[in-house]
Amino acid sequence: MTYDFCVVGGGIVGLATAWRLLERNPGASLVLLEKERAVAMHQTGHNSGVIHSGIYYAPGSLKADLCKRGERATKEFCGAQGIPFVTCGKTLVATTPLELERMEALAIRARANGIEAERLEADELRRREPNVTGLGALFVPATAIVDYRQVCAAMARVLQAAGAEIVFGAEVTGIRETPDEVVVRAGARSWTAARLVACAGLQSDRVARMAGLPVTHQIVPFRGEYYRLASEKNGIIHSLIYPIPDPELPFLGIHLTRMIDGSITVGPNAVLGLSREGYSKLAVNPRDVAQFLLFPGLWKVLARYRRSVRAELAGSLLKSAYLKQCRKYCPSLTVRDLLPYTAGIRAQAVTRDGTLVHDFLFLESARTLHVCNAPSPAATSAIPIGEMIAERVEE
Ligand SMILES: Cc1cc2nc3c(=O)[nH]c(=O)nc-3n(C[C@H](O)[C@H](O)[C@H](O)COP(=O)(O)OP(=O)(O)OC[C@H]3O[C@@H](n4cnc5c(N)ncnc54)[C@H](O)[C@@H]3O)c2cc1C
Repeated sequence: MTYDFCVVGGGIVGLATAWRLLERNPGASLVLLEKERAVAMHQTGHNSGVIHSGIYYAPGSLKADLCKRGERATKEFCGAQGIPFVTCGKTLVATTPLELERMEALAIRARANGIEAERLEADELRRREPNVTGLGALFVPATAIVDYRQVCAAMARVLQAAGAEIVFGAEVTGIRETPDEVVVRAGARSWTAARLVACAGLQSDRVARMAGLPVTHQIVPFRGEYYRLASEKNGIIHSLIYPIPDPELPFLGIHLTRMIDGSITVGPNAVLGLSREGYSKLAVNPRDVAQFLLFPGLWKVLARYRRSVRAELAGSLLKSAYLKQCRKYCPSLTVRDLLPYTAGIRAQAVTRDGTLVHDFLFLESARTLHVCNAPSPAATSAIPIGEMIAERVEE
């Protein structure tokens, strides 16, 4: 049979895209191919579980708009599906005069984005978060927490109820496009579809290459290493505690995150990973390493961000260096409080000139669309991203 749509990837972007495609095309046939044995086994299932408000992004930008709409759509979806989420808010803590200045800029950005954000003086911060210290803070009440694995499991159920087929253990190994159809191969099996959307996260550059598209960027894996706090520390914070981000750096900085199960994680940092899908610290994939070592863009990134590369590496190797970053705003934490927790791995698209791509990156042919970069907060924004992709595919 020829399916109307084939979606590759059972992370939140693939699932949301498949769901929006079927909502917009009732009765259409759709097959979703996922190489693992369940949904959300990679980035989506190893993240901080935050439903972001969109305060960081430039007003009027696609990222700001998708995040704001995604925050509402995710909460609505969770409400309708009975998935627990908690709107506990986020407190961004300034610990130096420079961070206070940056915090002011964020407050202005929040107002321009139409996002409620309350400035807190040091005394008020201490009253609300007795274990956190700073010169001042910005409280964003809309930020929430959820388990994105549960969100994905519910999306998979909704898709199957609408008639979609989800095939697990189907690692796409070949894509052939003709003027009339796309044939997708996973080992000895194959599926034919009128249109293909690939949302393959950490493998997205390889999958796009299989389809014969001109891929000039490369996915570089950046590990996000976490710890969790011992359970007797679970009451240490009431909201999510974030540092004020350095606008020069691509990631948000180590934060204290309440998880939906009541635990608290610390992290993530950002260090170069030696395996795209290996979660243990010692995981090395020779193919992945060889590929990024031969890619000139990576060397340019390492040179451009050398100071923070050194600091992040020190934090990765030494718990005390890692801890220093969160003791800035939560001084009572000690090395003994940091217990092991699984890492996440970001699929970061890097161009040959050494630019870290911060926006969405799509590659297209007549019958295929490849999502080649879906950066954070793509879990929050997944539903409107799926809608946007579905519209694009129909065009
Ligand atoms: C450490 C970390 C923390 C984050 N925190 C947050 C947060 O708190 N809030 C937020 O909104 N965002 C967060 N993000 C970002 C967010 O998690 C990701 O942007 C989002 O999950 C990307 O989803 P995806 O579907 O594109 O990718 P993935 O979840 O990686 O899914 C891709 C899927 O494609 C499958 N696949 C790959 N190749 C093939 C193939 N050849 N054949 C078949 N299947 C294939 C994979 O198995 C995988 O299931 C975080 C990310 C990380 C790494």
